[in-house]
Amino acid sequence: MENINIVLWDDQKMKIDSESTMYDVIKQSDPQLAKKALAVKVNGLKKDLYDKPEEGDKIEVITFDSREGKEIFFHSSSHVMAQAVQALFPDTKLAIGPAIDDGFYYDFDTEHTFTPEDFKAIEKKMKEVVRKDLPFRKKALKKEEAVNLFKQRGETYKLELLQEIPDDEINIYQQGDFIDLCRGPHIPSTRKIKAFKLLSVAGAYWRGNEKNRMLQRIYGISFDSTEKLEHYLKMLEEAKRRDHRKIGKDLDLYSFHEEGIGFPFFHPKGMIIRNLLEYFWREEHRKQGYQEVKTPIILNKSLWVQSGHWDHYKENMYFTKIDDQDFAVKPMNCPGGILVYKNRLHSYKEFPLRIAELGLVHRHELSGVLHGLFRVRSFTQDDAHIYMRPSQIKEEVQNLIDFEGFFYRTFGFDYHIELSTKPENAMGSEAVWDKATNSLRDALDDKGLDYKVNEGDGAFYGPKIDFHLKDCLGRSWQCGTIQLDFLMPDLFDLYYINPKGEKKRPVMLHRTILGSLERFIGILIEQFAGSLPTWIAPIQVRLLPIADRHITYGKKLEKILSEYNIRVELDENNEKIGAKIRNAEMQKIPYMLIFGDKEVSEDSVNVRKQGKGDMGSSTITQFISQLDREIQEKSLP
Ligand SMILES: [Zn+2]
Ligand SMILES: [Zn+2]
Repeated sequence: MENINIVLWDDQKMKIDSESTMYDVIKQSDPQLAKKALAVKVNGLKKDLYDKPEEGDKIEVITFDSREGKEIFFHSSSHVMAQAVQALFPDTKLAIGPAIDDGFYYDFDTEHTFTPEDFKAIEKKMKEVVRKDLPFRKKALKKEEAVNLFKQRGETYKLELLQEIPDDEINIYQQGDFIDLCRGPHIPSTRKIKAFKLLSVAGAYWRGNEKNRMLQRIYGISFDSTEKLEHYLKMLEEAKRRDHRKIGKDLDLYSFHEEGIGFPFFHPKGMIIRNLLEYFWREEHRKQGYQEVKTPIILNKSLWVQSGHWDHYKENMYFTKIDDQDFAVKPMNCPGGILVYKNRLHSYKEFPLRIAELGLVHRHELSGVLHGLFRVRSFTQDDAHIYMRPSQIKEEVQNLIDFEGFFYRTFGFDYHIELSTKPENAMGSEAVWDKATNSLRDALDDKGLDYKVNEGDGAFYGPKIDFHLKDCLGRSWQCGTIQLDFLMPDLFDLYYINPKGEKKRPVMLHRTILGSLERFIGILIEQFAGSLPTWIAPIQVRLLPIADRHITYGKKLEKILSEYNIRVELDENNEKIGAKIRNAEMQKIPYMLIFGDKEVSEDSVNVRKQGKGDMGSSTITQFISQLDREIQEKSLP
C-alpha cells in the first residue's frame, strides 16, 4: 500500500493510503462533517464520496447547505423518484431528470397518465427505496456496452442522448436495480434523502421542442430534514396565497391572453398602480437631476449590428421589415439612447448627464419559462444612461446606491448588494476592467457597505452592482443594477468636449432601479398579498351605506372625497352591510366608510380599515386629513 499526499479544505496537508475514498478522508479529519458530506470538489471538479483521491488533490466538502450540495441532492432525488415510477409503471421510459432551483423533475414517457392521485403511491415506493439505504454506484462503460445496456432496457431517449456524447467512456449510475445514464456526482446513498414530496405534474416536450413527443414531467422537492420540508411547504402555501397571477385576476388588475403569449394586458385598476408608480418614479428622478427621453421601439438593423446585439443577442430579438429593410424590435434601450446623445455636442459642464427612459422592450423567452408578470416577453425597463468623466464615477455610483435604496425602503424591502466582475469572454482590456471594477468596489467600500462578489458574472461590456430585494417570504428578487460601460462609447464613437476644448471619450453607465415595471408590480402584489399601501392602492376608500336610504349621503361623501383626489367607490348594491364589508375586504380596499341613520344625522362616518377592523367614528374632514397624511408619507400597511 502506498501513501499519497492531499490538501484538505482548510489547507491542512494530509497523508493517506491510496485505497482511501473521499469519505474516508473526511471522516478521518472531521467525523461530524463526514455525516453531512454529500460529495466533494476536487481541484474544482465535483466528485463522489466513493471516488479516490490522487496525489496532490485539494479536497473540499459539499454539503446540503451550499447551492452545489442542493443540486446534487435534488438530482439524486430525481433518480429515486424515477426508480419508484419504473417499479410501479414498468413500461415507463426515462428522458431527463435534472435538479432545478427549487427541487427536481423527471420527464417520463408512459401509457399511464399521471395525476396528483398517483403521488401517494410513488412517494410510498420512494420511501421504500430510501429506507433500503441503496448506494449510488458509478460505473464507467465503453460506449458500445452502454448502448447495449440501454437498448436492452428499452430506454430509447437515453440511446438518443448517448449518440451525442463524443467520449468513448460513458458513466452510468446504479442504485438497486435502477440504472441511469449520468455524469454525476451523486449523494452516497438513498438514505440521505430524509424528506421529500412530489408537487405537480405537467406536460413537457422531449427536448422542449413541440415537434417531439409530449412527455410527462413530475416535479418534486427534497430536504435533509423533515423540518426543512415542512417549512418549505408552508412557504409554498403562503406563496400560493400571494400569487400575483391569482390576485391580479381577483382584483381585476391585468390579464394574459393566448393572442399575445407573454405580453401582459393591464386593466384600469392595474393602470392606476402603474401610473402611480411611474409618477413617483418621475418625480424622484426629476429631483435627482434626470432628464427623460423616449426612443422608438423599432429601429433599423444597422444600429443593432453596430451595438453588437445582432451578433450577441439575436436569438432573443424580434424582427420585422419596413420598405424591404430589416428592422428589429428593441430588446434594450441603450442604442436608441445613444442616438439621442449623439444628436448634438456635449460639454463636460453637463456631466454627469443623466438621461432616463421608461422604455418598452421585447425579448424572446421560451413559452415554457413565462410566468405571470415575473417572466414576460415585453416589459418596461426603468432605464437610465449616465454619461460622465472617469473622475466622476465614484460619486455618481455612490449617489445611485442611495437612490436605489430609497426606492426599496419606500416599499419596505430589505435588500443586499452584489458586485459582479469580469466574465471570461469580456470585451475591453484588462486595465480598463481593473479600473472599472475598482471604482465600483471603491464606491461600495467607501460607504462601508456589505456586498457579495460574483467573480466572472459581469456583463460582457463591464462590471456591475446588482440589488437583490428580499420579500416577506425570504425570496430574493434581482431588481436594480448599475453597470459601468467603457465599450459602447467606443463602438458608437461618443465624445464630449473637456475644459481644454479637446474631444474626450465619456464613461457610460447603465442602470435600473425597479428593473421591469411589470415584474416590480408583480413583486409588490405578492409582498403585500394584494393589500397595497394606501398611496398606490387602485381604490383607496369604499363607501358602504347600511341601507338604500343612506345612498344620498354616500353620494355627497363621494363628491367630497373625489375633490380631494381620493380614489373612492360607492357600494350601491342591495346587500346586507356584512356582505358589503366582506366584498371590500376581498377587494383589498384600504378603507371602508360605513354610515347609517346615526352617522347621517351626526354628519359622520364609521371608519373600518382593511385587515384591522373597526377604527371608530370620525368626521369626514378628520378622516381626509389623516388619510392625506398617510398618502403623503407613503406609509406601509
Ligand atoms: Zn444522475
Ligand atoms: Zn443601457
